[in-house]
Amino acid sequence: MTGSHNKTLAEKSIKGRTTGQFRCLYCFERVIPPKNATEYTCTKCGYAWRIWWFSPNEPRIRGPVWEKHEKLSREKMAEKGGA
Ligand SMILES: [Zn+2]
Repeated sequence: MTGSHNKTLAEKSIKGRTTGQFRCLYCFERVIPPKNATEYTCTKCGYAWRIWWFSPNEPRIRGPVWEKHEKLSREKMAEKGGA
């Protein structure tokens, strides 16, 4: 029996799974939202996403959270002096 080998393989297969993660469509960073969260802001790029749960361990992106991005772009436009 080579117990240590088996352990290494088991650890690898667990690491390979991406349960509870989704990939930010803006910066492609893998992020882990809290369980059953309906919104999540990417920790890398700050983009806010709406989330739905395909299964208890599989979050999926529904789309961006427009209110937050509209507010951000309005603020940016204001800085530039509007239309
Ligand atoms: Zn991101």
